[in-house]
Amino acid sequence: MNKRQIEQILNRADERCRAKGTRFTEKRQSILRALLKSPVPLSAYEIADAYRDTTGETIQAMSVYRMLDFLAENSLVHKLASANKFVACAHIACHHEHETPQFLICERCGAVKEVGIKGNVIKALQQGAANAGWQMLSPALELPCLCDRCAA
Ligand SMILES: [Zn+2]
Ligand SMILES: [Zn+2]
Ligand SMILES: [Zn+2]
Repeated sequence: MNKRQIEQILNRADERCRAKGTRFTEKRQSILRALLKSPVPLSAYEIADAYRDTTGETIQAMSVYRMLDFLAENSLVHKLASANKFVACAHIACHHEHETPQFLICERCGAVKEVGIKGNVIKALQQGAANAGWQMLSPALELPCLCDRCAA
């Protein structure tokens, strides 16, 4: 992603926060920028490192986690539960409703692609859990894949 695209997405994220009456502070912006710049998902510690490299200031992992929580609540970032890492949402600049995301994770290069899952697929997953007498808490799916570039 080039610089201009990143700035466009950050502007859009700012507008979205304003519309909700929340603040897209400089620090939250730096965290999201670090994720947008990275070709692979980052852990809170890796984000803290990137923050230090770009701003010259140290940030505690705890405050990175707090900011990630805020960004995740606002669908600006997503947590990959399997790796305990974070990715920027691929739809920040979009105008459509945010769908339930599914993450395709390249086993070779670590790239992640966010795609939406259809409602009937989520229902089928819920039904499968219900048939076993369990309750599904999250339909977040992380699928091991080979990306288009690595497959070529
Ligand atoms: Zn998303
Ligand atoms: Zn979109
Ligand atoms: Zn790949």
